[in-house]
Amino acid sequence: MTRVIAITNQKGGVGKTTTAINLGAALASADLSVLVIDLDPQGNTTSGLGVERDHLQASIYEVLLEQCQPSEALCPTEIANLHVLPANRSLIGATVELLEVPDRERRLRAIIQDLQTDYHYILIDCPPSLGILTVNALTAADSLVIPMQCEYFALEGLSELFNTIRRVRSRLNPGLEIEGILLTMYDDRLNLANQIRKDVSRHLGQQLFQTIIPRNVRLAESPSFGKPVLLYDARCKGASSYIDLASEILASARQRAVKVS
Ligand code: ATP
Ligand code: MG
Repeated sequence: MTRVIAITNQKGGVGKTTTAINLGAALASADLSVLVIDLDPQGNTTSGLGVERDHLQASIYEVLLEQCQPSEALCPTEIANLHVLPANRSLIGATVELLEVPDRERRLRAIIQDLQTDYHYILIDCPPSLGILTVNALTAADSLVIPMQCEYFALEGLSELFNTIRRVRSRLNPGLEIEGILLTMYDDRLNLANQIRKDVSRHLGQQLFQTIIPRNVRLAESPSFGKPVLLYDARCKGASSYIDLASEILASARQRAVKVS
């Protein structure tokens, strides 16, 4: 069965896109077929996976507005079993145009239903806002990965996100789960980062992934080469941390499967 995971936090620059690209690549390296949907008009997931975002035949924008089929917009990446449904600045228009269509919050869910037989995992990279695009992602997802930077205001804004999650659960997607909260850009030499890890763990303990993503310059460099870090420098700490995150997610999928059987 396909698992749809939205990567979300309305706070900007916390590592959503880095996680979408590199978790996608790590799951694909475990021989799973993976689709990453770029739902951010910045198109950073698209370019970070080596797709030229300014010269797209079709993008998630046209798919959401039913101007083309999802299959017409899918792009291959350097990794054979990792595809991307790309985005560029045209998606900004969708935030207004979608407001006028019926079932506007369920558009992405319908698209994913058509696609899911082809993929084990579908990851959705959300924009840094709680608008209609993010609501579409939360409505389409089975679960959420919430990246959080280890900085002083890390917990700030989280209650707003949890309010949105509650609203989506009650109206649109009752089964929406939290896959986990992911600490990113962690620097264990900093007392502050250590203190914040402890605070976050006290507040959100059970929901926190065991894997922590370190601050790693290779992770920041690889998008400018249009590559996931696994193809750029497979031996760096950034690459191994996303492999660990993929293993943690696969282990909890196995646990769920055992519970069901
Ligand atoms: P936005 O909200 O704008 O979409 P985002 O949450 O998607 O941002 P990213 O684009 O993934 O965040 O990361 C923000 C910046 O931090 C980028 O320049 C990225 O390369 C860098 N970065 C992300 N994770 C790491 C890391 N673990 N180590 C070093 N740099 C990182
Ligand atoms: Mg981003």
